[in-house]
Amino acid sequence: TIGMLAIDRNGDIAGGCTTSGMAYKIAGRVGDSPIIGAGLFVDNEVGGATATGVGEEVVRTVGSFLIVELMRQGKSPQEACEEGVKRIMEKNKDRDDFQIGFIAINKKGDTGGYCVHPGFSYSMFTEEGQTNHPAESFLKS
Ligand code: ASP
Repeated sequence: TIGMLAIDRNGDIAGGCTTSGMAYKIAGRVGDSPIIGAGLFVDNEVGGATATGVGEEVVRTVGSFLIVELMRQGKSPQEACEEGVKRIMEKNKDRDDFQIGFIAINKKGDTGGYCVHPGFSYSMFTEEGQTNHPAESFLKS
C-alpha cells in the first residue's frame, strides 16, 4: 500500500491510498485500502491516518478511523499510531507473523508513524525537501 497524507498552508488535510492487495490473495478479497475508516480516514477538523500491512487486522479495528478519533481525544499523531498498533496486537496476543504500519498527521502538521515489526519507514515532503523517518515498532526484532 502507498498511503499519503497532505496538509496545505491553510491547515486543510487530504489523504489517499492505493494498493495491489496482499500477495496470493483469494479472488474477490477486499482489503483495508478501499474501505474508508480502515485503510484511510481524514477528518479535516482533526487530522488523517492511513495504514499498510495485513488489511484484515486493520479492518477489524477500523484502524485509521481509530487513530483519528484518538487524536480527537488529544493524543499526538505518534501516540495515536502507537495506540492503534497496540490495540491490534492486544487482539492478536498469540501472533506476531504480520506487519501493519500507520502514519498520521494532525491539524498542526505534527506527524507520526508506528508499526508492528521494524522496517517500516515513511517520507515527508516539505518546502525544505524530503526527509525519511524509520517508524518505531511494537516488536523490537
Ligand atoms: N493493506 C493491503 C491489503 O491488505 C496490503 C498492503 O499493504 O499492500 O490489501
